[in-house]
Amino acid sequence: MAQNEDLFKKIISHAKEYGFIFPSSEIYDGMAAVYDYGQYGVELKNNIKQYWWKSMTQMHENIVGIDTAIFMHPTIWKASGHVDAFNDPLIDNKDSKKRYRADVLVEDHIAKIEDKINKEVEKAEKRFGESFDKAQFISTNPRVMENQAKIDSITERFAQLMNDNNLVGVKELIEELGIVCPISGTRNWTDVRQFNLMFSTQMGSLSEDSNVVYLRPETAQGIFVNYLNVQKTGRMKIPFGIAQIGKAFRNEIVARQFIFRMREFEQMEMQFFVRPGTELQWFEYWKETRKKWHLSLGIAESKYRFHDHIKLAHYANAATDIEFEFPFGFKELEGIHSRTDFDLKRHQEFSGKKLQYFDPELNESYVPYVVETSIGLDRTFLAIFSNALKEEKLEDGSERVVLNLPKVLAPIKAAVLPLVKKDGMPEKAREIMDMLKQDFMMQYDEKDAIGKRYRRQDAIGTPYCITVDTQTLEDNTVTIRERDTMKQDRIHINELFTYISNGIRPLIK
Ligand code: ATP
Repeated sequence: MAQNEDLFKKIISHAKEYGFIFPSSEIYDGMAAVYDYGQYGVELKNNIKQYWWKSMTQMHENIVGIDTAIFMHPTIWKASGHVDAFNDPLIDNKDSKKRYRADVLVEDHIAKIEDKINKEVEKAEKRFGESFDKAQFISTNPRVMENQAKIDSITERFAQLMNDNNLVGVKELIEELGIVCPISGTRNWTDVRQFNLMFSTQMGSLSEDSNVVYLRPETAQGIFVNYLNVQKTGRMKIPFGIAQIGKAFRNEIVARQFIFRMREFEQMEMQFFVRPGTELQWFEYWKETRKKWHLSLGIAESKYRFHDHIKLAHYANAATDIEFEFPFGFKELEGIHSRTDFDLKRHQEFSGKKLQYFDPELNESYVPYVVETSIGLDRTFLAIFSNALKEEKLEDGSERVVLNLPKVLAPIKAAVLPLVKKDGMPEKAREIMDMLKQDFMMQYDEKDAIGKRYRRQDAIGTPYCITVDTQTLEDNTVTIRERDTMKQDRIHINELFTYISNGIRPLIK
C-alpha cells in the first residue's frame, strides 16, 4: 500500500515537473479536483481523443460524431432523471469535519476484505506452486469463503438500502461495520443525506424565474436530443451510433485521487441505437470491441477487468464497468450500459415531440433501444500515464526515468538533436525538422550533453531521438534511437519519415 502511495505521488509530481498536469489556479493555492493540462499533457490528451474518435467514427461506417453545447434546456435534466436522482449519499465525520461518500466508505471496507482474500490466494499459490488451482481454492477454502460471504452480504444489503433510499439504514450499516474516518480514526458520524451533483447557474437576466441552467453532468443527453437530426440528415439506418467528446461537470463530494475524480472533466461517449430486442447482443459486441480498443494500446491485459453490475439502474437492463488497476487499486475507467429506450421515451414525453424511427426493413416505427459506451478522458489519461512511468536501472549502473507511452499517443514523436552546437550541425538538424514537422509533432533540442537530452525526451515519452553528427554532414545519415530499447540505427534522412510512421502506427481495433 505504502509502495503504491509512493508510486502515485511520483506520478503526480512527474506530471507536474514535466508539463503534463498542473493544479488549476495554482498561484492562488489551487482548487480541489480541478486541474489544467500543460504543454505535453494537452498533446497526450488530444492524441487519446483522436485515437478514440477514429476508432469510433473512421473505423465504423455507421457511427458519426457530433459536438453539442454544454448548456441545454433545463427540462432535459428533469426528463433524464438528473434533477431528482443524480445524488450521492454523503456523510461527515464530526471530529475531522471531513466529508465522505457513504457508498465509497462501504466500497473501501469491501476492498479491505478483498485484500484479505487476495493475500490468502497468494500464500496458497506460493505453497502449492504449479499444481495450484485458484478457482478450486477460492470455492473451498473456509477463510476465503467466509470473507466472500461477508462481501456478498454487505454488497446486497447496501444495494437494497440505496434502492429503498433508506439513508438511516446506510448510517446503521456504516456503524455496524465499524468503519472509522481515515483522518480522525473515530466513528463519530453525522446522518447520511443526499446531495445533488449538478452545478447550476443563471442564464440571461437574474430577475426572471425560469432562468436556472445546469452545466451538463454527462455528454450523452446532447446525443439523445439530437438523434433524429443526425439520423435524418445523415440518412442513418439502424443500427447506428453517435459519438461525442466533451466537458462534463459534477460537484463531486470526494475530490481526491488527482485527475481520477474531477469536478470538471471530459467524457468520450457513444450512443448506439438499435432495434428493440437486439440490445443485449449489441451490449456484448460493445463489451468485446471496447476491450480490444484498450488492449490495442499495448497495456497488459491483467490491468483490466470487467465488473458486471448486479444491481441495475432503473433505466438499464445490462451494465458493466471496465475497471483499470490504478496505483490505488482497480477502479472504473469506462461504463458500458444497455439503457433501453428510457432516455428517448422520457424526452418524447417531456418535449411532446415524437422521437420514433421508421425502420424501412420492418416497415414500422419504434423508439430505438440504446447501448452506450462511456469513458472518462482524464481517467484514460491517468491509466495510460501511470502505467507508462518507469524507473529503470541501466547496465552501466545509472538510472533513468522513462515514460513508455503507447507511441501513437506520445506528445512528441521525435526529437532532433545536433551532437554539438557548431560545424553546421544545428543547420542540418533544422533541415530535418523542416522535413518532418508537417507530419509529426517534433522537438528541436541543442542544449546540454547528448545523454542529458536523451533523458529529457525519455521523461516525456518521446519514441525517437534523431542525432545529427559529423557523419551526417558527409553522407546524410543520422542515428535514430528508440526510447524503450535505447537501441540506435543508422539510417539515411530520406528514410526517417517511413521509419517513424511505421514505428508509431496505431493498432486501432
Ligand atoms: P464513479 O462511480 O467513479 O463516480 P460513474 O459511474 O458516476 O463514476 P459514469 O456516470 O458512468 O461514471 O460516467 C462515465 C465515465 O466518466 C466514468 O467511467 C469515468 O471514466 C468518467 N467520470 C465520471 N465521473 C468523473 C469525474 N468526476 N472525474 C473524471 N472522470 C469521471
